[in-house]
Amino acid sequence: MPGIIERYRERLPFAPGDPVVSLQEGSTPLVLAERLSEKAGLEVWLKLEGANPTGSFKDRGMTCAVSAAVREGARAVICASTGNTAASAAAYSAKAGLRGAVIVPEGKIATGKLAQALMHGARVVALRGNFDEALKLVREVVSRHPISLVNSVNEYRIEGQKTAAFEIAEALAGELDALCIPVGNAGNITAYWKGFREAGLEPRMLGFQAAGAAPLVHGRPVEHPETIASAIRIGNPARWEEAMDAMTSSGGAVRAVTDAEILAAYRLLAASEGVFCEPASAASVAGLLVHGAGEDVHRVVCVLTGHGLKDPQTALEHAGAVVPCDPELAAIERAVLE
Ligand SMILES: *Cc1c(COP(=O)(O)O)cnc(C)c1O
Repeated sequence: MPGIIERYRERLPFAPGDPVVSLQEGSTPLVLAERLSEKAGLEVWLKLEGANPTGSFKDRGMTCAVSAAVREGARAVICASTGNTAASAAAYSAKAGLRGAVIVPEGKIATGKLAQALMHGARVVALRGNFDEALKLVREVVSRHPISLVNSVNEYRIEGQKTAAFEIAEALAGELDALCIPVGNAGNITAYWKGFREAGLEPRMLGFQAAGAAPLVHGRPVEHPETIASAIRIGNPARWEEAMDAMTSSGGAVRAVTDAEILAAYRLLAASEGVFCEPASAASVAGLLVHGAGEDVHRVVCVLTGHGLKDPQTALEHAGAVVPCDPELAAIERAVLE
């Protein structure tokens, strides 16, 4: 499959002949989750965005943001990030031959994402502050220097990310009652809603935030957001109004899920569906299981935004232990069969 710009060019702001920076993102699997469906009493599908080139949906937006930056003649890109935007911006700027700088909250990003950003050669800046402070600062930097901002406040990010809704609409032949999606900075739910409407669909948009970082649920910013789901540890989402509009005008809702509920869904997906996603992604499934999808909903898609390998530390802390064994047949038999 070509990348999303080539696949959906007529619905994206790119003309034939424009530069395209792509790693063949998009066209991700949509998998029927049999056990989860049984548990939820609905038909539940999982959109596996961890299958994108850098392991998260951010690549859909990044191919557009970086291609547009090249078209505009930018020499460098910058972003604030809870991790995945940094990994994606670093990869796409490496592919484009641009310089990349990523500002991340110190000590609060998952190991895999940090490794990616560093390996792709980005300048990784660890801010002694949280994501919201990082975003505020990078906005000031780009107002003073000719550097392209590739956070989801950039419209090209939204344009690229809406293509996931196109893929779902095509795969399910337009039959979808609700979408469950984790909400952090609220760019992705905004993008899905735009994409669905362009595809002529209006599924109920159900957004889920972590209980310790749930500004949209409380109706006010959270000064010190806290959650194990580091990708959605955001206290003041940039796309606040648009996200609320998506949920209200689709008859949806925004709700909170606790870290314990997120971790339970995270383990369930891995152990009974064969899908290893990162904790933030599991908020969509946790939300569905805890809050339900409402009346007259038969078919739901849960967006699994990023791959589980992004955050091996959280996985190891919440999985079973390995079994030590001496190199003898009897010991192996005991270890395997008991
Ligand atoms: C970025 C991200 C989110 C949140 O998306 P927003 O557009 O910020 O709401 C959720 N899950 C993962 C894995 C992410 O990387």
